[in-house]
Amino acid sequence: MNTKVLVTGAGGFIAHHLVNYLKARGYWVRGVDIKQPEYEKTTADEFELLDLRLWPNCLQAVRGVDQVYNLAANMGGIGFIETHKAEIVHDNTLINIHMLEAARLNGIERYLYTSSACIYPGYRQNTVDVTPLREEDAYPADAEDGYGWEKLYSERACRHYHEDYGLNTHSVRFHNIFGPKGSYDGGREKSPAAICRKIALADQDDIIEVWGDGNQTRSYCYIDDCVEGIYRLMQSDYRDPINLGQDRLISVNELVDMVARIAGKNIRKRYDLTKPQGVRGRNSDNTRLREVLKWEPRITLEEGLELTYRWIYDQLVDTGRIRSLEPAAPLVAAG
Ligand code: NAD
Repeated sequence: MNTKVLVTGAGGFIAHHLVNYLKARGYWVRGVDIKQPEYEKTTADEFELLDLRLWPNCLQAVRGVDQVYNLAANMGGIGFIETHKAEIVHDNTLINIHMLEAARLNGIERYLYTSSACIYPGYRQNTVDVTPLREEDAYPADAEDGYGWEKLYSERACRHYHEDYGLNTHSVRFHNIFGPKGSYDGGREKSPAAICRKIALADQDDIIEVWGDGNQTRSYCYIDDCVEGIYRLMQSDYRDPINLGQDRLISVNELVDMVARIAGKNIRKRYDLTKPQGVRGRNSDNTRLREVLKWEPRITLEEGLELTYRWIYDQLVDTGRIRSLEPAAPLVAAG
């Protein structure tokens, strides 16, 4: 009989891709979210619209499944998480604590929690040429206010459910996941999607707005690598939180230039220093990831951005925001 899995947040970006990945491997999948996937139909065997802040809904969501991938969260890009702290902490605390308890009561075999690089302390991320973050750098804690503190707390809740009840929990810390079929406008989008949208809408030689001075640095991981990493971690017996991301550090200015090259456009930048830009620099140390999973993300930023830019460009054409019938800019050779 097929292993039955629950994927929460399955109307969202990463979990929607994860559902496709698990279906392709023969799992029976129930997706749960407060909304359907926005850009294509789910491939889940069952999809239930449930608000997982509510305890009875968590019990309903986990019924009859063997494994839980818990990705549901109220979240967005830096502009959203810096202005909705109370709402985020309220919603995500309820989702995560109820989901853990529902998993325990239902004897779930394996449970995966999706944490974030936002749990890392601000004092380790205040230069652009930042040292890559090792998992143990999380303490002494000084997480991203609101969103990051809740993630750190929920990681610990997973640990306690393992220690006290033997629930087989895994916690993964994502570092800037991007790719097609994710939010690209409306305020919840992250920087790669926002930059792709701005450049797709721009004319040759246009100026686009960049938040901050553009020198802030990050690493970015393509969605296909992300879902493979999640899956590999779930099969492992590794218990402690682990990074999942790329360890190639680049600035937002370099990211803009890369997308402009893909688009075949000459783009200039105007800096808005009043907008939130998050920590000054953040990179993933993948030593533990390589040791534990014998694997690490392999899709290059150039390859991932080409696919993402093309998808966002096509969305903008389909929704009438780009009035061109021409195909997206020719793909440049992946580096
Ligand atoms: P997303 O916003 O696309 O997906 C999250 C989904 O959770 C949404 O579809 C949303 O409707 C759903 N959700 C919110 N509240 C809910 C509720 N009360 N009940 C049921 N569903 C609810 O975000 P994503 O990028 O796919 O992120 C997935 C997970 O990964 C989240 O836990 C997020 O915090 C974590 N994460 C993502 C990134 C990233 O770069 N995308 C980085 C770090 C961590």
